[in-house]
Amino acid sequence: MKRRSFVKGAVAAGVASAAASSLPKPAIAQERIEWRMVTSWPKGLPGLGTGAERVAKRISDMSDGRLNVKVFAAGELVPALQVFDGVSGGTAEMGHDASYYHLGKSPATAFFTAVPFGMTANELNAWVHWGGGQELWDELYEPFGLKGFLAGNTGVQMAGWFRKEIKSLDDLKGLKFRMPGLGGKVLERLGATVVLLPGGEIFPSLQSGAIDGTEWVGPYNDLSLGFYQVAKFYYWPGFHEPGSGLQLTVNRSKFEALPNDLKEIVRAAASAENDVMLAEFNSRSAPALQTLVREHGVQLRQMPRDVLEAIGTESGKLMQETLDDGDEITKKIARSFFKTRREALAWTRLSDQGYTNARLLKFPYPRG
Ligand code: CA
Repeated sequence: MKRRSFVKGAVAAGVASAAASSLPKPAIAQERIEWRMVTSWPKGLPGLGTGAERVAKRISDMSDGRLNVKVFAAGELVPALQVFDGVSGGTAEMGHDASYYHLGKSPATAFFTAVPFGMTANELNAWVHWGGGQELWDELYEPFGLKGFLAGNTGVQMAGWFRKEIKSLDDLKGLKFRMPGLGGKVLERLGATVVLLPGGEIFPSLQSGAIDGTEWVGPYNDLSLGFYQVAKFYYWPGFHEPGSGLQLTVNRSKFEALPNDLKEIVRAAASAENDVMLAEFNSRSAPALQTLVREHGVQLRQMPRDVLEAIGTESGKLMQETLDDGDEITKKIARSFFKTRREALAWTRLSDQGYTNARLLKFPYPRG
């Protein structure tokens, strides 16, 4: 009995072992990659900060945690305006900010956020995705060890907050104003003293009188930063940022080391945010504008036509100089951008602009 049991047991064990060897090997736990994303945004800043958090969450969720991204607000890991260096140098694997904060690296960085009297969000997307912009961007960032992706857009911005009205060009002279990018350089040429401050430092500077005014984004974002408490005149249109692209930067060697599916997840997460953020800004700006005007007594002002024309003229000169004086890559990017802008003028006039003008004609329509 004992022997038979033993034999039976041995046979059974043999069968079990043969069965086990024919089964697929147990899945080896996938390597989990932990990445850090540094940003220029104050923690939880609606629109920009929450957009960066959505990109990170989307990457973590789409990869089911294989690529897990932790977000750091401005100053937590690197200062607000050093996201570029932080990702380039490997302090973090990813960053979310605006390329035009880094004009010091190359004047061509401006084109991937916004330039004065440049392209709208639709036009920028068209250029980057279909007009050769992404390839030029890759070429620009390659020496810095970065990859850049569009990952959000604010839509048309407001010209900004002013303590005093701007009635003529003279009112710009001596004005201490916060405006980044090439828009700031244009105001400087018209006599303003321009500073670049990260979002979290604007309100105290405005309150202390260190600056007379500021631009930031538009009603939704600006309401949350409270500028209306200090400056009452809110000017439009945002000639300097007609559709600012936000960028997801990725350390190039870290990106190249990812398996193909995770690379595609990073691209897709950025692309998704490019749509979602623009939709959020468009959706929330109208009610935020009402709140600013009705509850906080903000006064809306249109930038006078002759001031806009002067800003436009100076912008055109600055763009020409950027092209003439730029290094090889800047020239290539500028030429490509200006060509797409020129083509867009013709098409947008008939499409978006043609339609929105037609919609303003007087006829009855349900209010909803
Ligand atoms: Ca802005």
